[in-house]
Amino acid sequence: MDLSDLKLRLHRFRNRKLATILTYHSVVDLPLPFGMWNHLPLGQFADQMALLAQEAQVISLQEMARGIAAGTLPQYAVAVTFDDGFRNNFTRAYPVLQKYRIPATIFLSTGYIDGTELFWPERLAYQLMRTPRQSLPTSLFGHLELQTAAERRAAFGTIRTALKTLHPRELQKNIADLEECLGVERREEDPLVQEWLPLTWQDVRAMEADGLVSFGGHTVSHAILSHLGEAEALQEISGCRTALDHHLGHRTTCWAHPNGTRQDFGRGHLEMLAAHTFTTVLTAEPGYVSCRSDLAMLPRMGVHNRMDSRGLMRVLAKPTRPDSGTGECPR
Ligand SMILES: [Zn+2]
Repeated sequence: MDLSDLKLRLHRFRNRKLATILTYHSVVDLPLPFGMWNHLPLGQFADQMALLAQEAQVISLQEMARGIAAGTLPQYAVAVTFDDGFRNNFTRAYPVLQKYRIPATIFLSTGYIDGTELFWPERLAYQLMRTPRQSLPTSLFGHLELQTAAERRAAFGTIRTALKTLHPRELQKNIADLEECLGVERREEDPLVQEWLPLTWQDVRAMEADGLVSFGGHTVSHAILSHLGEAEALQEISGCRTALDHHLGHRTTCWAHPNGTRQDFGRGHLEMLAAHTFTTVLTAEPGYVSCRSDLAMLPRMGVHNRMDSRGLMRVLAKPTRPDSGTGECPR
């Protein structure tokens, strides 16, 4: 498919009045020892924002939510979102957003903000990228070879997929055990660590100041809600609400579920969110948005590290029907 075909399909998309919410996570400005789907190279991200500025009508998530509620969604609308709260959203992505005046919403796992703890997949990746070990015998995952970058990447995928199913307590214990086994002492000055640290509240306020970037909730600890008991889930939602109210100084109504597939939250969680005035709720279920979309269950299209500008255009140009489509793996 050449570029003119893609533009033709994009034109059809424009006429169908379907909007797209894109999900990003992290934008990095260093080569990683092995690729990770949620860490986009800066150049790739900049190319994508240039494309959006040229081809799409990028609006804020809040404007999109108002459009859905009012039945007046602009044609060819795109909203940009980031999950988790990596500091590189400020140091790497924000200058690009400013350059093209592209609004974005960042969903924060508030327990990490202002801290020095990395999200668990990055803790695991750091070990696997830096360990001198050539193999890892484990009872849970079998014997994992670590001789090449490809083997390390495969080991990361195997372990991450298995750990994601665990209750956060078990998950953290397993990560700590793996860190001990792989034996890499974290060095603060390591560029990998610097690139993967979370945002600070000062960064958050700096981005809010010019009105281009807004924020929403993504739990306190990035726990998958369906893995938790009712009281734990309530604490994740209410704790996140309290932190956001305190540090933002105004009330955001936006929320994105960690992991975000239909299995990762239930009806009870949606009721808890509504009770905490999180009324624009995003999933990671792939799909497109129309005026008939449910504001409490908005689908998104994930952007991954192997998606170039042409791939992004394909995402924008290929709606099947509202709230459905093909997307990429959530965390
Ligand atoms: Zn997340």
